[in-house]
Amino acid sequence: MIRLRFAPSPTGYLHVGGARTALFNYLYARKMNGSFILRIEDTDIERSEKQFEDGLIKALKWLGLDWDEGPDVGGNYGPYRQSERLQIYEQMAEKLLNEGKAYKVYAYPEEIEALREKLLAGGKPPHYTREMLEIYTTAERIREYEEKGLKPAIYFSMPRKEYVLNDIVKGEVIFKEGTVGDFAIIRSNGIPIYNFACVVDDHLMEISHVIRGDDHLSNTVKQLALYEAFGWTPPKFGHVSMILGPDAKKLSKRHGATSVEEFKEKGYLPEAVVNFLVLLGWSHPEGKEIMSIEEMIEAFSLDRLGKNPAIFDPTKLRWMNAEHFRKLDDDKALEKAIPFLEKYASFEEIKQNKEWFIRLIKSVKDRVEELSELPKMVEFFFEEPSLERNVSSDIRVVFGKLVSELEETSDWDEKVIYSIFKKVLKGSKVKGKEFYMALRKALTGREEGPELIDIVYLLGKDKIIRRLKRYI
Ligand code: GLU
Repeated sequence: MIRLRFAPSPTGYLHVGGARTALFNYLYARKMNGSFILRIEDTDIERSEKQFEDGLIKALKWLGLDWDEGPDVGGNYGPYRQSERLQIYEQMAEKLLNEGKAYKVYAYPEEIEALREKLLAGGKPPHYTREMLEIYTTAERIREYEEKGLKPAIYFSMPRKEYVLNDIVKGEVIFKEGTVGDFAIIRSNGIPIYNFACVVDDHLMEISHVIRGDDHLSNTVKQLALYEAFGWTPPKFGHVSMILGPDAKKLSKRHGATSVEEFKEKGYLPEAVVNFLVLLGWSHPEGKEIMSIEEMIEAFSLDRLGKNPAIFDPTKLRWMNAEHFRKLDDDKALEKAIPFLEKYASFEEIKQNKEWFIRLIKSVKDRVEELSELPKMVEFFFEEPSLERNVSSDIRVVFGKLVSELEETSDWDEKVIYSIFKKVLKGSKVKGKEFYMALRKALTGREEGPELIDIVYLLGKDKIIRRLKRYI
């Protein structure tokens, strides 16, 4: 049975890296008709917040992902929030204690820190050993702990040996003997440390594959040792390379928007974001770039996960968004645009004038990259542009004729309007190109924008006349 999970810590927003991890695990689960599980790793009690969990769930759903088991949907392997599984971890730690594979540590945090400094100062890696830590386990200290109501931390006795990982992405990864020292698995407050909780849960939840960022490799060796200590078979691991910014440095806030929430706000379509994410470390066998999530599931395979760092290119994301937006049908495009038009029209108004708004969106559809650009792009349809200076007297004369012709026509048909344009130009010194540019500028205040025919239709007779009259 193929079972994959996404195990975020609810300590912040869903960032590009996390979203990509979620997506890869999701795609493989769906591709293999397996299960996709959401597990909330909220053991960092100081930094974990329910609002972040809610935000993560919302962001994942917005991306179009769903899961078969999770804190919100339940399942047979729950609870799916680590803070609700403390007893399980306690029992599992007990097991290792009983077998002598873990031990109690009665050292205060300052003491551990001092030990660490000492090791570092002596030019040694800060690897703790049982001998170093058990010196604190005196009868007096135990009594002190009891009196203060404190509990010892539990440390895992890391075997000093080589570990070999056969990674799906990286191939054979060797962790030399002594790569890591003993490490805490349960804090003195009874809360488990990530590596321990993760192993216990991945085992009990029967996770078959773990795809995650290669920043976790140093954890993986600890996890392999824990699987071994329990006598459990580890899942298959695949560590994908980190995502870098266009400057080849680790992706961070400096590179602009990096959270799913920000993408949403800026007007990226979820289908574009997902499409962009999948190509950060995976490629379609036929080199396809623009894909739907269904196509991704269809084409997804682990052997196409790349070894090289993926570069986050915001220009590519913009391009992809434009491509996906262009592909939407009229109704869908309008639906996606509505939240960005609220400055100019309420939802009700848009619904009542749906045809007009559809035409509005169509008039800019080919040029939109981020939907948040929409208000600026369509502003002049709603607000009168400022007066153009430098409008020649010849142009003013043509505008004058145009206004009288327009006032007389009762037929507001595009063909009729165009024939009027031709008519007023005839016998004038003004060249066609010059006239159309002047007209565009007078009506919109800009040199570029939608097709003139769209402008004419969307502005309508009254507004056009009003805007032109300002020049005569
Ligand atoms: N909670 C861990 C994180 O967010 C999960 C890592 C893992 O996939 O094992 O980094």
